[in-house]
Amino acid sequence: MGQIRVIPLGGTGEIGKNCTVVETETDLFLVDCGISFPHEEHHGVDIVIPDFTYLLERKDKFRGIIITHAHEDHVGALSFLLPQINVPVYATPLAEALVRSKLEERVKHLEPNFQRMVPGVPFELAGMKIEPIRVTHSIPETCAIAFHTEHGIILFTADFKLDASPVDHLTSDVKRLAEIGEEGVLLLLCDSTNIDRQGWSPSESEVGPSLKEIFHKADGRVLVTQFSSNIHRMQQIVDAAYATKRKVVVGGRRMDMTFQLMRRMGYLKVEGDIVIQHDEAKKYKDHELAIIVTGSQGEKMAALSQMSRGEYSRLKIMPGDTVVYSARPIPGNEGGIWRVVNNLVRRGAKIIDEFHSPIHVSGHAYLDEIKEMVRLTKPFYVAPVHGEPRHQQHFRNMLLEDGHAEHRVFVLDNGDQLAINDERAWIDEDKVTTSDVYIDQHGNAVVSRDVLRQRTSLANDGVVVLTIVVDKRDGAILNRPRADVSGFVASGDAVEDILDDLNNILGRLSPAEISQAEFLEATVLEASQKIIWRRTSQKPVVIPIVEAV
Ligand SMILES: [Zn+2]
Ligand SMILES: [Zn+2]
Repeated sequence: MGQIRVIPLGGTGEIGKNCTVVETETDLFLVDCGISFPHEEHHGVDIVIPDFTYLLERKDKFRGIIITHAHEDHVGALSFLLPQINVPVYATPLAEALVRSKLEERVKHLEPNFQRMVPGVPFELAGMKIEPIRVTHSIPETCAIAFHTEHGIILFTADFKLDASPVDHLTSDVKRLAEIGEEGVLLLLCDSTNIDRQGWSPSESEVGPSLKEIFHKADGRVLVTQFSSNIHRMQQIVDAAYATKRKVVVGGRRMDMTFQLMRRMGYLKVEGDIVIQHDEAKKYKDHELAIIVTGSQGEKMAALSQMSRGEYSRLKIMPGDTVVYSARPIPGNEGGIWRVVNNLVRRGAKIIDEFHSPIHVSGHAYLDEIKEMVRLTKPFYVAPVHGEPRHQQHFRNMLLEDGHAEHRVFVLDNGDQLAINDERAWIDEDKVTTSDVYIDQHGNAVVSRDVLRQRTSLANDGVVVLTIVVDKRDGAILNRPRADVSGFVASGDAVEDILDDLNNILGRLSPAEISQAEFLEATVLEASQKIIWRRTSQKPVVIPIVEAV
């Protein structure tokens, strides 16, 4: 029997850009194709996507992409991959609708090949039986994915929790998970995001009563911020508004688009005539209004952030407003979030980011649910995914404590090739290249590491342009180098001293050396970087210009 490889191109050792290859001798399948967000030092980078080289080199055996659910860390990079390889995409109706709306925004003239996937209904792709199994998460139609391979079942849990009372009443298909556990799960790739949280995650439906209480008690307007993709939360906000006789205004382009789409498709049920437009809001008293807004992560251009700066023309924050943070900060976003919160407080708003009962619950399983998933599916091999190294290590220790054999746990890193044949599984010595690809969405282009280094230098130390004028007939330098600086600061006569040092070095060059513009530019660059560092301990971007007259 042949060998099967499971290769994470993203999503292991990190939370974000989930993208995993399942490859047989003849066929290649991809599970998810997501993005992650840049760190603060990635100046001007909007999103990070996986490196698709491995897929592009295997175009002829690439059979399709299977989407577990419509969160950006699972689908956000499709608009970068599909224009290069337009393979079939298997997705549920909700995932397809959200992905389509994103694709239309970014890619023109692409006719994606969506194939309808229904939770609980297996399908065949290139002879592989693939089975989507319903699990609960913060967005409807999330599916664990089972590959029925010749060696046994490879099961991706997807992002999951075992919510006994989900908002849409559709619980995880625990019965089917247990059945495939009996059929024989060879490898379980399990969500490990909340492995370090004890017990069982609270049900999403626990958020509703808290929201209702806040809506009921507040005398003024209530603004709720959350992720636009959290459809269950959106439903509960709408329900709380209905129960407390408030009208709902949706603020922020992405939130409004998702709201309308989900409403049209029936995923969001709105009772009565409670949704109104911004300009109708003035007809109602403050305590009759609830406003759903984007910006829970402090994103600069999101509606709530603009409101916090007083730049949102359609709504001004006033004393008496209550702002509810119904989302957890993604690590790394805290600084931006607190800036927004502080500005909102300055404008008189009351902030609720904690409450005696939950205003936010996680969509990911806690420790005991993860244990339950392992107990149900009885995997032979386990690989913790959707987690940083600390989460993966926690997961591994938990398994070992529960008596799982060490050689049956694989802590994978992006690019690792987990190979399986009919005798054993192992991590191949060869690693696939999976460096992060940085995207500047406004430039619509990839930002290289060199450019990132330059941007860091520019941000920290500015730029120094050095101009040298050369007589092209006899190779003489006609001026003392001239410096034009922008964003570069140095004390006293430092710039003059730098130019003196540079002038001395240039004085030692022969006319032949001076006549070669490229050589001269390289010499000026190298020498001036050293001089600037020696005199100021700074590393500005240096641009040498040689003018021949
Ligand atoms: Zn998710
Ligand atoms: Zn995720």
